[in-house]
Amino acid sequence: MNDTHIGAPKTDDEFGRQRALDAMNVVDTPKAPEFERITKLVQSIFGAPVVAVSLIDRRRQWFKSIQGLDVKETTRDVAFCDHTIRHSQCFKVEDATKDPLFANNPLVTGEPFIRSYLGAPLKTEDGYMLGALCVIDYEPRSFTKQQEQMLMSFADVVMGEMELRRSAAIDELTRLPNRRAFNDCLLDLAANPDASLVFMDIDHFKKINDTYGHPAGDVVLKQLAGVLASICGPETIACRIGGEEFGIVLRGKDAEQPVAFAERLRKAISEQAIDEIEKTKVTASFGVAKAKADEPMNEWQERADKALYRSKHDGRDRVTAAS
Ligand code: GH3
Ligand code: MG
Ligand code: MG
Repeated sequence: MNDTHIGAPKTDDEFGRQRALDAMNVVDTPKAPEFERITKLVQSIFGAPVVAVSLIDRRRQWFKSIQGLDVKETTRDVAFCDHTIRHSQCFKVEDATKDPLFANNPLVTGEPFIRSYLGAPLKTEDGYMLGALCVIDYEPRSFTKQQEQMLMSFADVVMGEMELRRSAAIDELTRLPNRRAFNDCLLDLAANPDASLVFMDIDHFKKINDTYGHPAGDVVLKQLAGVLASICGPETIACRIGGEEFGIVLRGKDAEQPVAFAERLRKAISEQAIDEIEKTKVTASFGVAKAKADEPMNEWQERADKALYRSKHDGRDRVTAAS
């Protein structure tokens, strides 16, 4: 099989690997019963004290699920799973104290005194290893081929679940996060006074569909989603929350001022020339609301929505900040 084949393991493209992990939107999300069930099941089948779903994220390994140890993450340099992601098959250490790679590892010489390890890589459809499903023991042990194959199959189940969760949160047409992901994002930010919300609605979009047809309308949506994605910094999440409606969340102190951001976006959109609609000018209207401490999520959204309505009422192609 040639190496550029879809699904061929890509073990030496760390940049692409990290991007694939980021796109999965899984790191720093809460525990979920589906992953807990898998790790508990593997723990009982292997009779092992520790089983984890570990994701290698920049300089750390972060556990989506872990049984038998009360930790959320470790640094990457001590992570056994950081070795597993360099393979497309299981990676094993039968006695860490006798293995030159691990004998001096602080997790071996100190708490929790790991002696043996079996890890199956968590491989995406594109061939990136995001992390590992791993079994850890405090005794030396050997692992059979059959056990390795079984762990590989469970790793596939873990990946299937992760892919499913991601696709449930993505809008098919624009590839932006959807309404469901938007709501989750707002819940995460509940009462964070540094956050802001921007609602955007394309102006007279029905007329674009009526004039150029629905497929051309779809191209406009995709192109504007591209503008959105290109303008958003790392602290900004843009979602398609309805037909021609977008919700943008600006998080944290380092985020751009929301009105300035919306103005920049408004301008970028009105400067788009789209062949499918004979370069007809597309514009959008915006409503901006900064979060208030202790304000319920629905009231925050209502303020942004009212501000957007005001922009429409006042003539469209403009930004209005909520009171
Ligand atoms: P306004 O400036 O007041 O927002 O006017 P508008 O025409 O944009 O608003 P209206 O709510 O009347 O129409 C929205 C249109 O968006 C109607 C619907 O057919 C279209 N639409 C919704 N989803 C899609 C989609 O996925 N693809 C296409 N092509 N059109 C869509
Ligand atoms: Mg609308
Ligand atoms: Mg509209």
